[in-house]
Amino acid sequence: MKKLLPTSTAGSLPKPSWIAEPEKLWSPWKLQNDELIEGKQDALRVALQEQQQAGIDIVSDGEQTRQHFVTTFIEHLSGVDFEQRKTVKIRDRYDASVPVVVDAVARQKPVFVDDAKFLREQTQQPIKWALPGPMTMIDTLYDDHYKSRENLAWEFAKILNQEAKELEAAGVDIIQFDEPAFNVFFDEVNDWGIAALEKAVEGLQCETAVHICYGYGIKANTDWKKTLGSEWRQYEEVFPKLQSSSIDIVSLECQNSRVPMELMALIRGKKVMVGAIDVATDTVETPEQVADTLRKALEFVDAENLYPSTNCGMAPLSRSVARGKLSALSAGAEIVRKELAGHR
Ligand SMILES: [Zn+2]
Repeated sequence: MKKLLPTSTAGSLPKPSWIAEPEKLWSPWKLQNDELIEGKQDALRVALQEQQQAGIDIVSDGEQTRQHFVTTFIEHLSGVDFEQRKTVKIRDRYDASVPVVVDAVARQKPVFVDDAKFLREQTQQPIKWALPGPMTMIDTLYDDHYKSRENLAWEFAKILNQEAKELEAAGVDIIQFDEPAFNVFFDEVNDWGIAALEKAVEGLQCETAVHICYGYGIKANTDWKKTLGSEWRQYEEVFPKLQSSSIDIVSLECQNSRVPMELMALIRGKKVMVGAIDVATDTVETPEQVADTLRKALEFVDAENLYPSTNCGMAPLSRSVARGKLSALSAGAEIVRKELAGHR
């Protein structure tokens, strides 16, 4: 990006009420078959237009094409039985009924490539596409086949690499892997989690990002956050290894979070998507609040590497709140851009 402080979002935007029940995660589709395909494309157009009107520089589909950021991808793979369900603890936090890995996992056909091509046709702006990371994928399943988290993650990494290469060929500029599990399983992240992620980006020429957050503003996550104490130092466990990895961009949360900003110094040299928008509250930030977060981040991130963003996805918010937050992000970034221009 030539523009200083290019804005983007971590991922999802609210869905219109005609395609899925709003302000809800995992909300089932209201349409089916061809109507659903058309509905998703229309929702993508709206999400794109809302980002453009708010002045967002790196745009996405707002995840209008999927029901859930992990499950929708896995649904397209073979080897996973969605009829069979077992209860597991997601990221050591809450119980969920999940599908079972019953055979070797494989990607029989592209998952999001047509959707990405559709987005590419709609805009000349840089586009970012989100995929689940390998470790977060295994954490959303019961494994009755590989019986090894590492082996299953490695298989998913190979599948993600196939998908990522086709997304790149479809014109995606940044491929982002969502790895909230990196904030929980530190030993595994350092033993094989980052290696699996590097396998997923192997051979890509486009930019790659990893999004590590404290989750959507849902109760299980806000309850968990209350147990984390006054300083959230989870990033400290994984940043040193990420700093020396082949990933280009790290997306992290900052706004209203107890993450000490100085931890960003541990990934010096990487591009950093700094979360300057809190997704766990309906209160819309003022541009000045956004600017303040960005100014603090600039103490630890070079201006050329700072990408103002949101803490996480905004799917559970109302559309008007999400629109307000996108505009605040843009306006806040513009304040700091002008300040930086004054210094040069
Ligand atoms: Zn997130």
